Amino acid sequence: MDGRATVRTLVHDAPTVTDTPPASPRNRAALHTAAAERLAAEGAWEQAYGHLHAALRLLHGDEPLPDAHDELDRLRREHAEAREQSRRDSLTASYNRRYLDERLAALLADIDGTPFRTTGLCLALVDIDHFKLVNDTHGHLFGDRVLQRMVTELDAALPEGGFCARYGGEEFALVLPGRDLAQAVEISEQARDRIARHDWSDLHPDLRVTVSIGVAHAAGRIAEVERLIGEADMLLYTAKEAGRNAVAYRTARGGRVRLAGPAGARRSIPQPVRTTG
Ligand code: GH3
Ligand code: MG
Ligand code: MG
Repeated sequence: MDGRATVRTLVHDAPTVTDTPPASPRNRAALHTAAAERLAAEGAWEQAYGHLHAALRLLHGDEPLPDAHDELDRLRREHAEAREQSRRDSLTASYNRRYLDERLAALLADIDGTPFRTTGLCLALVDIDHFKLVNDTHGHLFGDRVLQRMVTELDAALPEGGFCARYGGEEFALVLPGRDLAQAVEISEQARDRIARHDWSDLHPDLRVTVSIGVAHAAGRIAEVERLIGEADMLLYTAKEAGRNAVAYRTARGGRVRLAGPAGARRSIPQPVRTTG
């Protein structure tokens, strides 16, 4: 039996407090192991190792000890997997809303101390156009597959350092640190175009999917997640109002809302009220 199996077997097979006196070596070992699990989950690996070592010593007396490093490696792996899973959306495997909120808050709080302090940070909110119709026409499970494919395509459109998260339902956020507004608009327009041109025929021969996108920019002085998301959401709404399959942004000078690429030639672009400073 290797050290890893030894510890796991001994811990899980250890009698409960009702079976043996609380101060028995087995119960004390179980307490040490529980402490090790808890500390490992917090990333306190050295202390976790100390507790595992103490558990093994209690269980083995003067015999040579199995290797506690193996058990610690297992804990480390499980901890990393659990952490990664808690950040992911279960349907699309993209980052989830919790991760998005945490990362955005951290990025914005630190904006002046980062390499992208001069460019700021951009957030693009992406919403699938008429997605309800996709569900109504082809069914909800089919819609799920479109959402999964959407994440693959959005990820492929991202530059290094950016990430995509499922904001909710059929909406996704692209976070683009270190990109100024012009760059973020270009990246978003390429993503929109990529999806509009995507060949969906393996899912259904008649399927066409487009997205609308609102791109907001945060400089150092706009440090609130809610305001950045609010601005992107409002611009997304404008892109919808202006005919969908478009990327909306606000010009740095003058603050007028424009549409990127060919959609810029559309005649009527509503001018929403500004919400960010
Ligand atoms: P718009 O262009 O204005 O965005 O129209 P829309 O139809 O995309 O917007 P609406 O808000 O009316 O509908 C969104 C749809 O997204 C309805 C909802 O059932 C669907 N949806 C949300 N989450 C999921 C999901 O996880 N799976 C599937 N299949 N559909 C989802
Ligand atoms: Mg929506
Ligand atoms: Mg939609």
